[in-house]
Amino acid sequence: LNSSDASLQKEVPPEEKGFKGHDMLAPFTAGWQTSDLHPLVIDKSEGSFVYDINGKKYLDSLAGLWCTALGGNEPRLVAAATAQLNKLPFYHSFWNRTTKPSLDLATEILEMFTARKMGKVFFTNSGSEANDSQVKLVWYYNNALGRPNKKKFIARTKSYHGSTLIAASLSGLSPLHQKFDLPAPFVLHTDCPHYWRHHLPGESEEDFATRLANNLENLILKEKPETIAAFIAEPVIGAGGVIPPPKTYFEKIQAVVKKYDILFIADEVICAFGRLGTMFGCDKYNIKPDLVSLAKALSSGYMPIGAVLVSPEIAEVISSQSNKLGQFAHGFTYSGHPVSCAVALETLKIYKERNILQHIQSISPRFQDGIKAFSGSPIVGEIRGIGLILGTEFTDNKSPTDPFPSEWGVGAIFGEECQKRGMLVRVAGDNIMMSPPFIMSPDEVDQLISIYGEALEATEKRVLEIKAQ
Ligand code: PMP
Repeated sequence: LNSSDASLQKEVPPEEKGFKGHDMLAPFTAGWQTSDLHPLVIDKSEGSFVYDINGKKYLDSLAGLWCTALGGNEPRLVAAATAQLNKLPFYHSFWNRTTKPSLDLATEILEMFTARKMGKVFFTNSGSEANDSQVKLVWYYNNALGRPNKKKFIARTKSYHGSTLIAASLSGLSPLHQKFDLPAPFVLHTDCPHYWRHHLPGESEEDFATRLANNLENLILKEKPETIAAFIAEPVIGAGGVIPPPKTYFEKIQAVVKKYDILFIADEVICAFGRLGTMFGCDKYNIKPDLVSLAKALSSGYMPIGAVLVSPEIAEVISSQSNKLGQFAHGFTYSGHPVSCAVALETLKIYKERNILQHIQSISPRFQDGIKAFSGSPIVGEIRGIGLILGTEFTDNKSPTDPFPSEWGVGAIFGEECQKRGMLVRVAGDNIMMSPPFIMSPDEVDQLISIYGEALEATEKRVLEIKAQ
């Protein structure tokens, strides 16, 4: 280890005795990491790479947090932000006042989203706020339609929809609920569509999808359809472990949702703008949503921004209702922040000009095939993914029912082995996730695959050593 690997050290260096972490209560960070260890401090970014404060270079295989689609130093985004900051650093969008970048961005997003025609765009600062806003919009809509009991939401186990109170409730990950008194009672969870983990012996992907759709229908009937407002799903589950749906899943789920007049919300926070090899996740799986959440690659992560797209029917009901009430009383100081919108507009322009979708389509087979070639490793349970998103799950005996003991920290070992070799991956237990920048070159894809392979080999050795103990 060189000095820049301080973040991997398990012990506080002697000269740092008394070091009690830093002053930040760090998000999604275990207490021991902030109280005993130096965090990995990232200082600079360049293309698909980031540099830590000691100058060590890492391939950023998660694109920040699934967001820096155009990589770490796109000068046009900096120029767009600077120009907007010089002209109008802030104005809001309340009370029929607004700014040009927010109006233009709404138009641009509606033009780009072609899976079905959408009506209007509501801006937020994040994906969590977008999903919280989804719930308020749907409740407002159902109240306007005179159906005040139609308020429950159905989400899925293993989904991630954010960490504000409502978004965390919708998420189907227990760490987000435990000790937070969540989920809120109006949220129900249905099956995670993970074929490898949950299919019955001899069950095909199509049959598995049918069973899940039947389970969803049974849940709706049990709870009474007139109480269920909406179903929310990520086209491909991201932070829950990268889980693409089984064949025919969304076709069958959409039929059930439609039958009971339940709105379909597509959480495209990760999947949008090319991640899956189509412009939106809805295009990939032929989803016709009533509402859509966007964030992350909308601004390539350079400025915080999220958006909710609502169908023309919902937009119409909300507009007429808010006219009656005098206003639509929901919004944030920074809804449609002009600098965020200017950066997002430039991001979308670059996606088009550089035909980023075609580039993603050209490099993703190299990425997918290159990593999936390691599926035979004795410690790999499953490698799954599509386009530029990929998950690896470590299990013993290659079986979904034989997890490694959590105290072995197999996922963490792999993460450390990658980090040593100059690559950052997302580790969640024994799940490893990657969603590299859209702009990766074929050479960088090869580098990523080679570091992954070396780290995997090193992890296999360490698992053997642990087993031998
Ligand atoms: N939805 C999905 C699918 C996400 O992946 C995320 C973030 N990882 C969110 C919502 C929440 O977004 P944010 O962190 O911007 O609040």
